[in-house]
Amino acid sequence: MTEDETRAVARDIRHLYFYIRTLRRGVQDAARRRYYRKIAAKKKRLHDAGVSTREVLDLLMCCRSGRCRFLACLDCPHRLL
Ligand SMILES: [Zn+2]
Repeated sequence: MTEDETRAVARDIRHLYFYIRTLRRGVQDAARRRYYRKIAAKKKRLHDAGVSTREVLDLLMCCRSGRCRFLACLDCPHRLL
């Protein structure tokens, strides 16, 4: 996987987490599970491409919180340029 492709997958994961944040826990659990399954498939793609577990976890933390502690995770929207 090229760096661009890795970033594209990271962006897809961000979009999927965005949807999960808009879905209500306990009410739309079936839909949430569907998105989590898609995310799991993309996480596997990153791992298979040699992206470290650390990098994937940083990305997920950034996606889940809507903020970023590192400002340097994959395709980070909060990155300081
Ligand atoms: Zn980040």
